[in-house]
Amino acid sequence: MKIMKFGGTSVGRPERMHQVKDLITRGDEPTIVVLSALSGTTNALVGIGEALAAGDKALAKGRIDTLHAHYLAFYPALLKKEFTKAKAEEIIREHFEFLNILLKISFNEAINRDILAQGELLSTKLFYTLLEELEIPAVFLPALDFMSIDENSEPELGKISEKLTAILAKNPDGRLFITQGYICKNHKNEVDNLKRGGSDYTASLIAAAIKASVCEIWTDIDGMHNNDPRIVDRTRPIAELSFDEAAELAYFGAKILHPASIWPAQLYNVPVRLLNTMEPSAHGTLIKEKVETTGVKAIAAKDGITAVKIKSSRMLLAYGFLRRIFEVFEKYKTPIDMITTSEVAVSVTIDDLSHLDQIMAELQTLGTVEVDQNQAIICIVGNMVSETKGAIKSVMDSLVDIPVRMVSYGGSRHNVSILVDAKYKVQALKSLNDGVFTWNN
Ligand code: ASP
Ligand code: MG
Repeated sequence: MKIMKFGGTSVGRPERMHQVKDLITRGDEPTIVVLSALSGTTNALVGIGEALAAGDKALAKGRIDTLHAHYLAFYPALLKKEFTKAKAEEIIREHFEFLNILLKISFNEAINRDILAQGELLSTKLFYTLLEELEIPAVFLPALDFMSIDENSEPELGKISEKLTAILAKNPDGRLFITQGYICKNHKNEVDNLKRGGSDYTASLIAAAIKASVCEIWTDIDGMHNNDPRIVDRTRPIAELSFDEAAELAYFGAKILHPASIWPAQLYNVPVRLLNTMEPSAHGTLIKEKVETTGVKAIAAKDGITAVKIKSSRMLLAYGFLRRIFEVFEKYKTPIDMITTSEVAVSVTIDDLSHLDQIMAELQTLGTVEVDQNQAIICIVGNMVSETKGAIKSVMDSLVDIPVRMVSYGGSRHNVSILVDAKYKVQALKSLNDGVFTWNN
């Protein structure tokens, strides 16, 4: 079985939904289709929740009506027959009636998550109606029946696998299954979600749960690019990445894939393919266990980074100093991204500042603390340590005109991370693009 996940822009217009239908009916392999909400819908739902949370019912009502109008214009362009149009009308009526009822009751976080779930419920139901109209046999697979997270918001892969396998066993002749990305149940059995962009995560979790042959992520770009196409003019898709390289890139800014979506696929060695709905024959990016390619493959940047330096003469020849520092960050559940050390000082970077004051106060008992905000991590991914001579030289040469705050090299074989002031981010990405890649065109 294979997984095909389509993002918001791939289902965001009636003609795109028809394209998705073509893509999922091309092959013979049984397929689970995971859909995001139509593009713009989840943002609109977030807005409705915010208005309700602020107690501004008029604003919430206005936002509900705008979204409603969008769907009322969408389905007549999607469907042709009267009976399926009537079905779509009923689906839309039901979901917007639910949103309108919320204007009359008191708001809470659980209700907010119910609001956020409407997008994927609408997109999958409308798409399923299109398949009905075209008489394409398919099974509707409600994600809320099998997708779940525990009290730490971590997906329960074992349970998901058990439930999903049982549901699939009840449909032995099913070839096409349609389900929602993003949404799940939490440990209180309430509707919850896998965080923004979480449909990729759903696809990868399903792929792992049923040990699929491949997990295809269909978006509106031809794969993961070797640099940020929004910032740098010349970029190209990367043909192949290892799971480790892809995880690094997804985390450090390549927006195309949700960073958490690598581990489930990696766990069961299910290859992940990033493909383009607008250009289905393009190779895209293949992410798998082992790749042969060497050298620098891609550059990504993540800003909003804060560097914290702790300096102490007591660190000299001492053991246990690093542990004491890390314990402070652990206590405040603040992940550390980069770390560099000297004999008397340690620098780390964080991007979650919610406990910075408490962290600072505790670190000050260990030494002198300096904080630099507005930094950016430039992450260079590829096979760089030992295999490729001179790769680090071309990286550093490209950055001669930029003050470098931290360098982290050798932590893994496929990554160099460099910290610069965020105001140098664009310049760094551009000079690295010219300096480390060979461009023949
Ligand atoms: N619809 C959700 C979002 O916009 C999930 C997704 O598209 O991946 O964040
Ligand atoms: Mg996405």
